[in-house]
Amino acid sequence: MADVVLSIRDLQKIYSGGVHAVKGVTFDVHEGESVAIIGSSGSGKSTVLRCINRLIEPTDGVIELRGEQINTPVADVNQVRSRIGMVFQSFELFSHLKVLDNITLGLRHVRRMSKSKAEEVALEVLERVDMLERVEAYPGNLSGGQKQRVAIARALAMKPEVILFDEPTSALDPELIGSVLKTIRGLADEGMTMVIVTHEINFARDVADRIVYLDHGKVAEEGPSSIINEPKTERLQKFLSSINEESV
Ligand code: ADP
Ligand code: MG
Repeated sequence: MADVVLSIRDLQKIYSGGVHAVKGVTFDVHEGESVAIIGSSGSGKSTVLRCINRLIEPTDGVIELRGEQINTPVADVNQVRSRIGMVFQSFELFSHLKVLDNITLGLRHVRRMSKSKAEEVALEVLERVDMLERVEAYPGNLSGGQKQRVAIARALAMKPEVILFDEPTSALDPELIGSVLKTIRGLADEGMTMVIVTHEINFARDVADRIVYLDHGKVAEEGPSSIINEPKTERLQKFLSSINEESV
């Protein structure tokens, strides 16, 4: 078995308003593995990713990156975020910066690269997401699919050990979803370690090595991608049939 990159154990999150969003979630992500997290809206998927990337602090539980606990007051948040990339539904690009500068920003300030070295890395990652032609464009002049590919390039530029995707195609028009899924599939094929929250069930089945199904803040079923075709629990069966009804 490949090395464990991320280990999440007994993760709990109670928001300050009292919502118990995550109720003891445990799973591992191995080197080179793609794990898809699926589940209804409100089941706690984003909360889990945001805890891993330390955008929010879990109420309880342990998150380890290569065996080292990262949810402690002494773990450096910037260090954690440079090792764990994140791609959001809403892209989160800087609208006042050109594509190239959106990517060089983190390289220069966090990685302390020279301008020329940062630009070299930026061009390399933009080529990987097929966005080399738009380096001088501003995000406002790109389609949603192009913006998301730039956001993926920005994550890749930091050479993260794992990338977390939170519904990367949910904000896109249907005709733009394919290009983004193709880019993510390419990364999976290259062996990038990834956690993908997605409603694209066929994509999850085809690309993910493992599926984690969250229901009301708990892992209700977990297994190889074959559980999409042969769910073991009634809850996952119901969830999958509700999704199928939506898409017909
Ligand atoms: P998902 O991504 O699966 O749709 P979330 O992790 O966003 O689910 O949300 C899980 C639960 O936590 C929901 O009930 C949601 O309303 C609640 N929640 C999410 N973010 C916050 C927040 N910042 N403050 C309070 N409650 C929140
Ligand atoms: Mg969410």
